[in-house]
Amino acid sequence: MLAVDASSLENATGLGDKRKKGTNNRMKKAVFLDRDGTLIEEVGYLRMMEDLRFTPRAADALRMFHAHDYLNIVITNQSAVARGLLSPKSLNKIHNRLKGMAKDEDARIDDIFVCPHFPEGRVAPYNIECDCRKPKTGLLHQAAAKHHIDLQQSIVVGDKRSDLELGQNAGIRTVLVLTGYGKGTKEAWPEPIEIFPNLYEFAKSL
Ligand SMILES: [Mg+2]
Ligand SMILES: [Zn+2]
Repeated sequence: MLAVDASSLENATGLGDKRKKGTNNRMKKAVFLDRDGTLIEEVGYLRMMEDLRFTPRAADALRMFHAHDYLNIVITNQSAVARGLLSPKSLNKIHNRLKGMAKDEDARIDDIFVCPHFPEGRVAPYNIECDCRKPKTGLLHQAAAKHHIDLQQSIVVGDKRSDLELGQNAGIRTVLVLTGYGKGTKEAWPEPIEIFPNLYEFAKSL
């Protein structure tokens, strides 16, 4: 086997230099944003571009999260894929459009992580029990691994019980917004929880 000294490899690729400056090695933090009812208006199963609309001033909120050094990471359950209501390709197109909408307002969505699964769905291979459907924490861990995110410094924001349970399951700060299903969630949620009228109002509080 060919033994390669890691430090000489880093020097050869220039990686070593970058790390010395500390730009690559630092842990980041993120706002984990629910999509429907939090970042964009809830419309049931979103299938058409025309239905894509930010909640009030959500693009401003995205810019403010960046200003506070948070990555903007969308974490979304899209069982419509497993249910056969939406193809992965169409979902991708919608998400590209969503990223474009943010860009049009000088904001950025850094990444979008999707759970397309649903055990009772009819489309293989998505009709399975998975570890990424919220409130399971699979997508958070995928995002953390890919973007070098410290979960303990990060925040989950959402409008549904599954979002609040996601934050609880990960043991991190969790915020309920009253857009989407938020008002109903507030009524049914048994414990104290941080609540804001919408994503923008939460961003202003940082
Ligand atoms: Mg939602
Ligand atoms: Zn999943």
